[in-house]
Amino acid sequence: MAMLDGKVALVTGASRGVGRGIAIGLAREGARVVLAARTKSASDTRRIDGDGAIVSGSLEETLDQIAAEGGSGHAVACDLSEASAVKDLVGETLNQFGRIDILVNNGQPQSILTGRFWEMPATAFDDQMSVGARSYFLAAHAAVPTMIRQGGGCIVNISSPGACFDFFSAAYSITRAAADRMTQAFAADLVGTGVRTYSLWPSFIRTERVIMAVSGDSAGFQMPPDFNPMTQANSPEVVGLAVAHLAADTDESDRNGTALTLFDASEIYGFKDYDDQAVLPHASVANAVKTRGSVAPLVFAKMMK
Ligand code: NAP
Repeated sequence: MAMLDGKVALVTGASRGVGRGIAIGLAREGARVVLAARTKSASDTRRIDGDGAIVSGSLEETLDQIAAEGGSGHAVACDLSEASAVKDLVGETLNQFGRIDILVNNGQPQSILTGRFWEMPATAFDDQMSVGARSYFLAAHAAVPTMIRQGGGCIVNISSPGACFDFFSAAYSITRAAADRMTQAFAADLVGTGVRTYSLWPSFIRTERVIMAVSGDSAGFQMPPDFNPMTQANSPEVVGLAVAHLAADTDESDRNGTALTLFDASEIYGFKDYDDQAVLPHASVANAVKTRGSVAPLVFAKMMK
């Protein structure tokens, strides 16, 4: 029996990238998966920043991959920056499958992610927050009453070491910190309900955009010179395996309400990537743990001493 037989998962930002991998990973573990993003089919052209390089991936392609592997799912085209669309998305999940056990909040704007804050358009803040934080809150707001009625559930907010370290831009880091604080605050409210909530920080993942950045196409961010996505990044699907383990582990634990790295999850649950590659630790996280014993931002680390 697969880990998630009988379970229903909703994954946002599932037309490409980490979300696509999570959807496939959860389906491999037996979940029926609802996929959400704006790009429905391969013929819908999506460009970085509206008029930049074309980025591949669509809901139908993710769904085709799930079906080819024997899984089942349902695609919903929706714009996560619209509050009513996020609420409707949860409604559509319940209409389609009658329950919701796992909510994976994921996604990031298809815009230029890097730059010093005053040199980026002021709209970068709302652009990042609406997809990377507000949609997380709204999807959980709509899904949790059903999860509580069902007697439990699991919410995983995909975040990043950007919550504690300076990656990409201030607006990006702020959304990652917001996602993690949301995880903690939700867990406090959800005590006794059976609904658990985690933040999950992938390290480098071989997404379409990471591969674009390595090939020199304008992906909206740069990768380090000589970065090798085959040896220095993991597959998107292994993030789904981590989510599956978190969702299946219904023992209340100290991890509820916390942020885990993908590497932490692989150590706790003892899994490797699908190609047998080890799950890679994130260099900034590993270095912070080594030098100051914690990944907490410096200000919190000082307060805790
Ligand atoms: P990505 O490749 O840019 O994919 C983003 C996803 O979000 C796409 O499916 C996109 O679909 C969707 N999306 C964007 N705007 C949307 C909107 N308005 N409405 C609906 N869907 C929208 O991003 P990623 O690299 O997978 O990152 C996803 C998450 O993983 C982020 O939280 C990021 O912080 C985290 N992460 C990624 C890495 C990595 O190496 N890639 C590492 C650490 C953390 P449409 O364009 O079709 O709407």
